[in-house]
Amino acid sequence: PAFPDDLLARAVVDLSAVRDNVRALAGHAPGAAVMAVVKADGYGHGMLPVARAALAGGATWLGTAVPAEALALRAGGVTPADARVLTWLAAPGAPFDRLVAAGVDVGVAAPWALDEAAAGARAAGEPARVHLKVDTGLGRSGIMPADLPDVARRAAALEAEGVLRVVGVMSHLACADEPGHPSIALQAAAFDDAVRVVEAAGARLEVRHLANSAAVLTDPRLHHDLVRPGIAVYGHSPVPQLGAPGDYGLRGAMTLQARLATVKDVPAGHGVSYGHRYTTPRATRLGVVPLGYADGIQRHASGGQLGVGGPVGVGHGAAARVLRVAGRVCMDQFVVDLGPDATERAGDVVTLFGASDGVDRGATVPNAEDWARAAGTISYEIVTGIGARAPRVCT
Ligand code: PLP
Repeated sequence: PAFPDDLLARAVVDLSAVRDNVRALAGHAPGAAVMAVVKADGYGHGMLPVARAALAGGATWLGTAVPAEALALRAGGVTPADARVLTWLAAPGAPFDRLVAAGVDVGVAAPWALDEAAAGARAAGEPARVHLKVDTGLGRSGIMPADLPDVARRAAALEAEGVLRVVGVMSHLACADEPGHPSIALQAAAFDDAVRVVEAAGARLEVRHLANSAAVLTDPRLHHDLVRPGIAVYGHSPVPQLGAPGDYGLRGAMTLQARLATVKDVPAGHGVSYGHRYTTPRATRLGVVPLGYADGIQRHASGGQLGVGGPVGVGHGAAARVLRVAGRVCMDQFVVDLGPDATERAGDVVTLFGASDGVDRGATVPNAEDWARAAGTISYEIVTGIGARAPRVCT
């Protein structure tokens, strides 16, 4: 779509990529249902449109971290007939009553949460659908295996009273992005044990689920009944050291663009941006890109003496090229050295990262993984961090 004159920056979200990525992921896990993970505003892409696109691609579940996200899906019109919705990160006082009333499945990740889920179900006047989330080795939230027999017994008693139903056992992997890491087999075995414990207590489970994106793409033994891909839904490789998104049939959904705020000539030896960590090696033309760390453009992606700098696709046709951030990324802006012969003008659109499949390196559109490398982080942090000053425009 045309870039409106009154916008400085925007994130174009290609919903057909989300839909196609979910289809591709379903193909990687043929025996399993797909829960598209749409927490953190759909990894920064916009939760509701992404949720709809993921359902169009064949997902039958939507996964959220915090209760407010699950409730926002229901308030946004995703009905129980459209999708099962699960939330798995609650603290004491969480609105279990509203979650149950809204038809949201609840992850119980600590012993206290079973009691609160039961109280919420009683208040709502209908049974809670509970997934017991077990810490099989991630060392984050989750019921410790030593506590599981007691929780499973109490859950079975509550189920007998009609207060709740234990429909799932779930866990999350620590090192799925390092295929072959010894912790994966240990967690897989601990997960099987946890399922046995819960079933022995009398639960009739609908779904057992363990696999994040990396596990979906690399190890069918981890798929079980339901897979929970997040980052791959948005077209980024969870294992960039092993394969680009295109190698897995995925393509990036978000394109981050900005209009050059200023283009100006400066002499040789001109210090650029805070700290003068880039000095122009020759008389040249600088371009100012109106995005900064307040917009999620990480200061660690500064360039010049500070490192390679985040990449920016500039120009069209024969003039298309990828430049690097020159000097420090500021709060609202950063600079690129366009070169002495640049023909770009203020108002021209540049692309920080685009909807590429990552396979075509050397292309003139960088991708979020390139930004992650420049900033010393992961693509997850790049896409979830893009701020509201770059409005999401769905196509
Ligand atoms: N499942 C759980 C419990 C998660 O916390 C997350 C995200 O961190 C996911 C699945 C999706 O992970 P990924 O984005 O690596 O596929």
